[in-house]
Amino acid sequence: MPDPATYPAEELANIAANAIRGYPAETLGYGPIEGLADLRMLIAQRYSTPSMTLSKSNVLITTSGMQGLDLVGKALLDKGDLVAGQFPTYLGALDAWRPRQPQFRNMDLTSADCDPFAAMNAAKFAYTVPNFSNPTGRLVGAEMRSTLVDAANQTGAWLIEDDPYGSLNYEGPLPPNALEIAMRCGDTGPVVYLGTMSKLISPGLRVGWVIAAPQMIEALTLAKQGSDLCTSGITQRIACEVLKSGIIETRQPTIAAHYRSRRDALCAAMSEHLSDWFEWEVPAGGMFIWAKARDPRINTDRLFEIGLEEKVCISPSSVFDANGDDCTGMRINFTLNAEDRLVEAVRRLARSVERLLKEHT
Ligand code: PMP
Repeated sequence: MPDPATYPAEELANIAANAIRGYPAETLGYGPIEGLADLRMLIAQRYSTPSMTLSKSNVLITTSGMQGLDLVGKALLDKGDLVAGQFPTYLGALDAWRPRQPQFRNMDLTSADCDPFAAMNAAKFAYTVPNFSNPTGRLVGAEMRSTLVDAANQTGAWLIEDDPYGSLNYEGPLPPNALEIAMRCGDTGPVVYLGTMSKLISPGLRVGWVIAAPQMIEALTLAKQGSDLCTSGITQRIACEVLKSGIIETRQPTIAAHYRSRRDALCAAMSEHLSDWFEWEVPAGGMFIWAKARDPRINTDRLFEIGLEEKVCISPSSVFDANGDDCTGMRINFTLNAEDRLVEAVRRLARSVERLLKEHT
């Protein structure tokens, strides 16, 4: 969850009123399945590079990033098909694809042994969150991003690049997206890029986009028709005006500073209260700290249950494992709560760990 205090309520209220008055047919009626032409053009321009100019035919507007994941599953997966997923994996992606009963192959992109060419062999697609992943907050390095594109080209698998967190960047420039790397050869190649308004503006807008080759956009459009006919015209028009207004860019540094301070408060409290039991890296962006247990007696599924009794909530690592086996880690969010609540949360978590360890004595 973002911090609701960061939602630009006044700006959006004005934009919304003007949008409905100025474009009543577009905002209050049904619209094209692919999304408003203006919004598709704005997204195409935003992601065009010197090597390639994107057009509307490369863009589908979705009812936020989550629908992009769902449509990819609908368009590409049959029962038993293989998905090569960055491990640990975003829980919502697993939820979106599980009904289609695929098999999952884990790719730990931070491990020196990881071979994407082998992992993606015979896969329908690979799934990656290269910028400040959910759940780990880590960045996939520039070299691995190129390797993923090469492996997708060689194996024939699509490469799903899910990027909700790239704009929540607290330290410095990011490596190029896989989309940008693929576009160096003049087209989007195997990359299916998913973007969203959720993290920097508001998840309530439910506006996202897919950028891909025109034939993939056509397949996803067909899948979207059976899902919701079209994304809300009101929020699409608001998204157009938001993109044109520049408020994303002007607000980014303030939001980054706000979340950086929360991240630092959480990490400082964790160093004081949890470092005997857990280890973690300080992420350079995103919303999460990913902590791994040092002590084998710590099972984070059990810690989650005790934590709820102490009124603190972690996400246990098992939910980010397609097989549900990993009970050695936890994801902690630092964007929703203010610094003092984060410190109190860590104290409660430390109490929860003590209680868990007593169960072993
Ligand atoms: N992908 C990832 C990795 C996410 O963490 C989220 C939000 N939790 C989403 C997609 C979906 O976000 P939305 O539907 O709000 O765009």
